[in-house]
Amino acid sequence: MKKYMWRIAIPMALSLIFLFGCSPKEYNETSKKTSEDRVDVIEGEHAEVPQTSKNMNAVENQASPDEASKELDGSNKTDVIERDANSNYDVDFHLVIEAEDAAFTGKVREENRKSGYTGAGYLTGIETEEDTTTFHVTVPGAGAYDLNFRSVGNTGYKENNIYIDGEFVGVAKVDGDEFTDSIVKNVYLNEGEHDITLKKGWGWILLDHLEVTASGPADKSIYTVSTELVDPKATAGAKRLMQYLADMYGKYIISGQYGNRGIDGSEFKAIYQASGKYPAMMGLDFIEYTPSRVAFGSQGKDVDYAIQFHRQGGIVTFCWHWNAPEPYLYNTNEQPWWSGFYTRAANINLKKIMDGDDPEGYDLLIRDIDVIAEQLQRLQEADIPILWRPLHEASGGWFWWGASGPEAYIELYQLLYDRLTDYHNIHNLIWVWNGQNKDWYPGDEFVDIAGIDIYPGEHVYSSQGSGFNELVEWNGDNHKIIALTENGCMFDPDLAFRDNAIWSYFGTWGGEFITLNNTDTLSEKYTETDMLVKVYTSEKVITLDELPDLETYGE
Ligand code: CA
Repeated sequence: MKKYMWRIAIPMALSLIFLFGCSPKEYNETSKKTSEDRVDVIEGEHAEVPQTSKNMNAVENQASPDEASKELDGSNKTDVIERDANSNYDVDFHLVIEAEDAAFTGKVREENRKSGYTGAGYLTGIETEEDTTTFHVTVPGAGAYDLNFRSVGNTGYKENNIYIDGEFVGVAKVDGDEFTDSIVKNVYLNEGEHDITLKKGWGWILLDHLEVTASGPADKSIYTVSTELVDPKATAGAKRLMQYLADMYGKYIISGQYGNRGIDGSEFKAIYQASGKYPAMMGLDFIEYTPSRVAFGSQGKDVDYAIQFHRQGGIVTFCWHWNAPEPYLYNTNEQPWWSGFYTRAANINLKKIMDGDDPEGYDLLIRDIDVIAEQLQRLQEADIPILWRPLHEASGGWFWWGASGPEAYIELYQLLYDRLTDYHNIHNLIWVWNGQNKDWYPGDEFVDIAGIDIYPGEHVYSSQGSGFNELVEWNGDNHKIIALTENGCMFDPDLAFRDNAIWSYFGTWGGEFITLNNTDTLSEKYTETDMLVKVYTSEKVITLDELPDLETYGE
């Protein structure tokens, strides 16, 4: 458990909360943290931060966004690794290795009681970290391969973790009661020998065989997306930003960083000091504007930071850690009021509210939405388009808006959409959905961008292509822009291009995910400085100085 500091001074000082690991459990295997032991860390007292500061000069002294703007049309994409250019890559490659012929450790054992397997049987007994199965595979050429861990859960839906030569590459998911396909798609393998290992995520599967199939040439059509926003009354600024995101998509990755003290906060300073670059996108949060926090003295500042960053030419994204309304908060030592966005900290039943069985609760949710609408209104008046990512990580269930299942969540999402657009006339929003599971998708008419949050652990620089590919699949032929809406450690942009998992943007979470003890020094716990500098100075990554003038873009 992390220590936290919490001081209420007189006059009341605003405290900042950084949340640990808004991380889907399934991607968190290599990290010690899970959703259960995520802790809120109060990063220290927030004194009044002046809205302009000496460090703004650092930005102003750079070339203006216009001057510095590269010709970002993708024509100079010469160093992109074309994964299907390897001459030995055989698009017809296909190989099956029975699990019972693979190497296994721990309590893993062979069995043949359940019918439907191939070969002589299957492996069972995957229950602890020690229980691993490793397939030794040789591929003729470098390129992308689909890995099918044919299996069945014991019983029902299961997820397990896949490693190539010790590096985590994705999650194999299996559902149903019979042996079936469980495919991790588009995994890059170098020419030659590899150890492909399945380790316990949830465990409890019967593993029949591994089938390795060449994925074939990279599908670049996924990057051709509609720029039409779901809100027919979207502002010109929102449309320009969407046009820009669509134009860059598949060619460049836009850098983003959460930092709840704005461009003068430690996150942005530390990145600038290390790389000479600022992130192009700032991630902010409406958390401290939520009425049940304001009631305890919280004071939101993030809209001011957004306005400030917009003036520097940057892109702004907002999430909302929606603290449950006061009557639902336990507010005990174990579950204090300021963790009231967690399911565990509030006795709120969204299903009851959405079913009409808690009308007072419904009114309180509307009240909260209306309060946040005022802040969005301020941003609209300042003509700032927002990548708006409400009700995030719902399917994980750790936030109350995700604790009553997908139906109630989708109703709330749609209510939020209608209330903001139709009732409050807020049209500067690009709607970013981040439900983390396709069953939680509110519908194409409510989603402009599909995002996923991935915290893969420490110093894991793989492209997170399996997460990317999942979202590609959920969207089918109706391609949406796909973003890594939150990440812990950063991915290597070269690997994202190699794996055809070119995230539109990323958003590294703040606090310890980027800085050391809330200072301007980089923490290397998740991303080492060399990798951070590589990311921020990459030809493929867009930083603040490389953004075009989004006030006139495309005109
Ligand atoms: Ca078998």
